[in-house]
Amino acid sequence: MATISSTGTSAPADGSGITHSIYWRDTEAVEPGPPLAGDVRCDVGIIGGGYTGMWTAYFLKQADPSLDIHIVEMDYAGAGASGHADGFVTPTIGHSLAGLVHGFGTERAKTAYAVVGRSMLELDRFCRKHDVDAELESTGYFSVAASEAQLRLLRRDVDLAEKIGAKNSLQLLGRAEARERIGSPAIHGAFKVGGALLNPHRLARGLARVVRGMGVHIHERTTATGVTKENGRHVITTPGGRVVADKLVLGTDAYQHQFSGYKHGVKPVWSYAVVTEPLTEEQLAQVHWPDREGFVESRNFIIFGRFTKDNRLLFGGGPAPYYYGRDMAEDKYMRRDASTQFLRDALVRYFPAWRDVRIAYSYGGCVGMTRDFVPHVGNTDDGVYHAYGYCGNGIALTHTAGKILRDLILGRDSAYSNLLFVNRKERRFPVEPVSWMGARALTALLSFQDRHPNLIKKQLV
Ligand SMILES: Cc1cc2nc3c(=O)[nH]c(=O)nc-3n(C[C@H](O)[C@H](O)[C@H](O)COP(=O)(O)OP(=O)(O)OC[C@H]3O[C@@H](n4cnc5c(N)ncnc54)[C@H](O)[C@@H]3O)c2cc1C
Repeated sequence: MATISSTGTSAPADGSGITHSIYWRDTEAVEPGPPLAGDVRCDVGIIGGGYTGMWTAYFLKQADPSLDIHIVEMDYAGAGASGHADGFVTPTIGHSLAGLVHGFGTERAKTAYAVVGRSMLELDRFCRKHDVDAELESTGYFSVAASEAQLRLLRRDVDLAEKIGAKNSLQLLGRAEARERIGSPAIHGAFKVGGALLNPHRLARGLARVVRGMGVHIHERTTATGVTKENGRHVITTPGGRVVADKLVLGTDAYQHQFSGYKHGVKPVWSYAVVTEPLTEEQLAQVHWPDREGFVESRNFIIFGRFTKDNRLLFGGGPAPYYYGRDMAEDKYMRRDASTQFLRDALVRYFPAWRDVRIAYSYGGCVGMTRDFVPHVGNTDDGVYHAYGYCGNGIALTHTAGKILRDLILGRDSAYSNLLFVNRKERRFPVEPVSWMGARALTALLSFQDRHPNLIKKQLV
């Protein structure tokens, strides 16, 4: 299916037959709506038509249908990380459960996990209620160990899960049992995590349809070029007109550094994936994988795999580069041959029987990382609301963030507005080139630990 977007149709395949554009975009064509023309006056103005912006609008409209809400989106709704994601609906907050428990203590981590867990269930209900075909499969996924050292990490996570009251859902499976679930010779052990797999692009497009149906205005192909304050109101300037709003939401995650005050709060870090051609029935029969769960290998730079609805294999992860000056240029970095090779090798290591399956797509996208590896949701005294830095685990969390922003905007003191990542003082990234050098050093250290887990046992992130 051809994809129409303001960034053009799918890229042509390279010499080896691989297309360097996002697979999901080819699963539902997009015809972006018209850009903003003229000035509008409203209650809430939102920059960013991804999950954060749209869930915030959704929950606000649900709470108060009379609110007038305008979203400006520079491309089309879902064109950012929301339409790129690998589709694992996870309860993970920030980088890892271990990081959260160590950083915030058991009780606060437990509350936060319960709330995000509720979002995972509500996502499923939302899709059913609104007929959004996000290809959601409630299979959950396995956290797997591919070495004895990684098995230690799984045991640690099971212990932590017990502390936060989730032990019953985490049963550590030994090598043989795990391979009964996913027949890979690379797997040494595993535990099942609740959750789901979905098509992130179709969820974003479905969500856009639903919020538009509720009366929210989404102006696609509309770039916010400036944000100012006039007569106590926020003014979003765009090439075709202005949005004048009482409250302003910045929902741009990895792009958030463009706004004054947020530059050192978030870094765009690239995450890559490959997607194969659809597997034939004969190929599918070569590997025992009866329930189609996804899996995530437990290491710093996780490696993960899953099926798509049309029986392609998606493999992602590995080293995640940061480019100098927060460079997010797709034309420069969408293709990264080292990542394609790394992921192909991982695929063959997991499933030698599929060594000849052709890679059809290879691409990357920007994850918003914060210095303390947890998201930040909150507001300034000036009526500016924000949510960003989901650290690669944003599908369920953005849904939670939408509820938090609803409560902050409506001035409600609720369980959501008091979660551990709300209005928390953040650690900032240093200026360039220190930031770039720091990212390179950390990447080298984390990769070293992934390769030699017995030499550095301390948890680094
Ligand atoms: C490659 C990749 C894989 C991922 N995989 C997973 C996964 O499997 N599971 C999971 O839970 N999470 C995953 N994530 C993370 C998740 O996708 C994000 O956390 C989430 O989508 C963030 O949503 P958002 O709305 O905050 O940001 P985005 O979806 O990035 O939305 C921000 C929007 O703002 C727009 N914008 C930026 N600047 C402007 C401007 N000046 N004017 C107007 N519009 C602007 C952008 O075009 C964009 O559409 C992944 C992310 C990436 C990049």
